[in-house]
Amino acid sequence: MARGDSRPGHGGGRAVTEDRKTQLAGNLARVQDRISTACAKAGRPRDDVTLIVVTKTYPASDVRLLAELGVRHVAENRDQDAAPKADECADLSLTWHFVGQLQTNKVRSVAGYAGVVQSVDRAKLATALSKEAVRSGRELGCLIQVALDAEPGVARGDRGGVAPEGVEALAEVIAGAQGLRLDGVMTVAPLAGPYAGRQLAAFERLMEISSDLRATHPAANMVSAGMSSDLEDAVAAGATHVRVGTAVLGVRPRLG
Ligand SMILES: *Cc1c(COP(=O)(O)O)cnc(C)c1O
Repeated sequence: MARGDSRPGHGGGRAVTEDRKTQLAGNLARVQDRISTACAKAGRPRDDVTLIVVTKTYPASDVRLLAELGVRHVAENRDQDAAPKADECADLSLTWHFVGQLQTNKVRSVAGYAGVVQSVDRAKLATALSKEAVRSGRELGCLIQVALDAEPGVARGDRGGVAPEGVEALAEVIAGAQGLRLDGVMTVAPLAGPYAGRQLAAFERLMEISSDLRATHPAANMVSAGMSSDLEDAVAAGATHVRVGTAVLGVRPRLG
């Protein structure tokens, strides 16, 4: 069949899949290059930094192609999308990271497929995750999501995260909870406050918070920071994990 012929029922599905795979492979190679260049510039070994591909709003078929292309870590931010996708991809050796705001009524579902929850920002959530981890006999990795634009003592808005002052207390709760493993910290570059538009400074602040945390919890050495537009700043600051969506999968068809 001629390349580009996409008549249904005539093998077009396969051609479309191959085109998508070629596109994803090219995008992935460019992102891997960016990470390598950033590591070289920072004098860090390339294997210091793990790429997590954020597959939110994209179908399970893309997750499958990414796995074929060597991706081992994927992330999602909404349980209602992630749960069926993870289920369709259960045969793949992938670690699923949950990176969105998490309500306690979704915890049972998320604990069923997530290897790491990166958005733990309150004790009540940690307690709920612990209960479900124990119930399902799985160990859940937890990152504390830090809000660098939170006012001390004031609850953070709609994007989640705990203020830097609250990290140590939350770490104690997670470290003491059955079924949970305290892996480190995560942040999203703030859109407001003193770090707005200053990604490198924000990620350097996250590294300080990580270093304070490691003083009491040495194994909690994961630092998740950086997305499509600012992964270089995250690598320069010392991030161990970058979360990249758009630069691998394309501009998302809807907000997510
Ligand atoms: C969507 C998302 C990303 C990826 O963002 P891109 O700009 O598409 O690379 C990273 N982290 C979180 C928490 C996200 O929700």
